[in-house]
Amino acid sequence: MKRLLLIHGAEVIALLLLSAIPLVVNNAYALGLLTLLAIYGILLIGLDVTVGYLGQINLAQAAFLGLGAYASGLSVSLLGFGMISALAMSLLVGLVFGGLLAFPALRLEGPQFALATLSFSALSETILNEWEGLTGGAQGLQISRPALWGHPVTAQGFYWLCILFLVIVWLAMRNLLSSQWGRAFEALRDSPIATDAMGIGTYRHKIAAFALGSALGGLAGGLYAFNFQYLQPQSFVYELMVILLLGVVLGGRKSLWGALVGASLIALLPNLLSNRLLFQIISILGFGIVLISGGRGLIQKTVRPFQAIAPMISMGLLVVGAALVTNTEDWRKAIFALMLFSVVVGLPEGLMGFAARFLSRIFHVPPAPLPSPASLDAALPAKSADNVPLLVLKDLKRHFGGVHAVDGISITVHSGRIHGLIGPNGSGKSTAVNVISGLYTPTSGSILLHGKPLPGNMFRVARVGISRTFQNLQLFTELSAIDNVMAAMKGVYHSPLPMVLLGLARREERRAQSDALALLELVGLQRQARVCAKDLTYGAQRFLEIARALARKPELLILDEPAAGLAYPDVSNLIKIIWDIHQRGITIILIEHHMDVISELCDVVTVLDGGRVIAEGSAEDVKRDPGVIEAYLGTANKITAAGVQELSANPG
Ligand code: ADP
Ligand code: MG
Repeated sequence: MKRLLLIHGAEVIALLLLSAIPLVVNNAYALGLLTLLAIYGILLIGLDVTVGYLGQINLAQAAFLGLGAYASGLSVSLLGFGMISALAMSLLVGLVFGGLLAFPALRLEGPQFALATLSFSALSETILNEWEGLTGGAQGLQISRPALWGHPVTAQGFYWLCILFLVIVWLAMRNLLSSQWGRAFEALRDSPIATDAMGIGTYRHKIAAFALGSALGGLAGGLYAFNFQYLQPQSFVYELMVILLLGVVLGGRKSLWGALVGASLIALLPNLLSNRLLFQIISILGFGIVLISGGRGLIQKTVRPFQAIAPMISMGLLVVGAALVTNTEDWRKAIFALMLFSVVVGLPEGLMGFAARFLSRIFHVPPAPLPSPASLDAALPAKSADNVPLLVLKDLKRHFGGVHAVDGISITVHSGRIHGLIGPNGSGKSTAVNVISGLYTPTSGSILLHGKPLPGNMFRVARVGISRTFQNLQLFTELSAIDNVMAAMKGVYHSPLPMVLLGLARREERRAQSDALALLELVGLQRQARVCAKDLTYGAQRFLEIARALARKPELLILDEPAAGLAYPDVSNLIKIIWDIHQRGITIILIEHHMDVISELCDVVTVLDGGRVIAEGSAEDVKRDPGVIEAYLGTANKITAAGVQELSANPG
């Protein structure tokens, strides 16, 4: 209860304040600014989906504001739409164009994605400018604010309408982003490969995130049109694009409050700049913040000197500039640039992140209690038939140019077994796993699961019951341990999107939590459920990846060198964990270098060398095989089996 009050209390107070202001302050100018704040709030919440959650630089949000604005304006002037249907049109235009833009941008990351969005902005601005017959071009478009259900809307009424939309967007996005959707967006940011390998799906979520963020941009545009009642294509270009990015990073990414703080700043900033005294106060405040944040980082050694000092210098320049320059308006762009630089370098968590650190000390908000763990029977798949051929590789090949990484292997993995796959470094083990799991397409040969060919695509393979871990960890680093497991969870999330937006999917969320806790318990991490994956010890990260793979309820689990880099107590924990999983009837392919781990666990072992199978049998048999000894050591005659065991435990 105290928790709910602390969390929602601030929201309710902010809402009451925002709604009450027009009753107290009767000033058209102030009302205009507040309306803009609400509109920018919606716009930035949308932008935060791509920038904060997907981690992509998105330069198209200003363009979506423009497209949405023209969509509303034209629906009213040409089609005679009312207010609500015009706004729905703006939302739809954002959704459709956002989805379309995401398609070609799908394969792009980082700078390329930013360029694609930049081109889109340039293109849409040109079209709005040149299609004079429709938009009036540079002359601008005059719009009258339509009636709302037959009632004319005053400036005050319109402000409340904007606040209402902001509240709806806020609540819906809070529900969405704390659901499986939000986790999927973040998973995508941290590891696209694991997002597919865990059956979450990169494509659908990238498109959904972008379409959703753009739809909010479109909606904000519609409100913008009815607020100003006059549109010009020039309003939606580069300067606004930079200001919007500034708003998101300055406010704080991945935070609704951050979007609101950012929105207030960018709505007020241009006006504050025209007042010299206010500008001086802001620059001194900003200097103070980077000073505290940087100084703290330096003392705690969490940042490098450059990271702390550079923003102090740039904010210092602003303080000096504010004292010297008379007309701050003319220096607007330089001021934005200095602020953006200081924030990106010195305050990457934004103002909300900065404030949250201090606020959390004053108002300690305990996290929502977790449910009790489910039984493992619920969290893991039911046992299936034992010792029948499950996975069959037939003459499988994968070549990389001249490198024959996998060169014609045939292996049959039986259900319920632990099947060891060993071989010296570079013998093709990981490549084989990557081909089976659909990361690489085979050069030739076939892979059958229950006699049926596997789909050659990681996302689909994950969905037919094969789950894997990676030799080089691929965790969702910014998510907590429990969220990593929940993100991959299969068979729990059934609620359609509208239910999620309305917050009616809580029950399946609880169910996913308790299943995830059961899996964390299995790998000994139940106490670290809330710890961010990147803050776990290396060993714990390896175990977490196993728990996450189990969340797929796999029939076949492939572990690619799970013991690599583990210290000794962890290796014995690992053996116990693998044995427990085996006891539950899950088939396991275990790639391992440590011969003792293999001997202790595996029913059957296949040895690879140079991309080919050189031996197969029980661990004892292959250990004595002269070909295997040769492969591991290069010299067969001088070595005993015991020597192999020792040396292969420490390859290289
Ligand atoms: P292992 O897991 O047994 O140590 P890998 O399957 O990782 O071996 O590698 C087998 C061989 O294939 C190595 O020679 C490696 O350099 C090569 N190889 C693996 N992946 C690629 C790739 N993506 N491109 C080119 N060569 C690769
Ligand atoms: Mg490997």
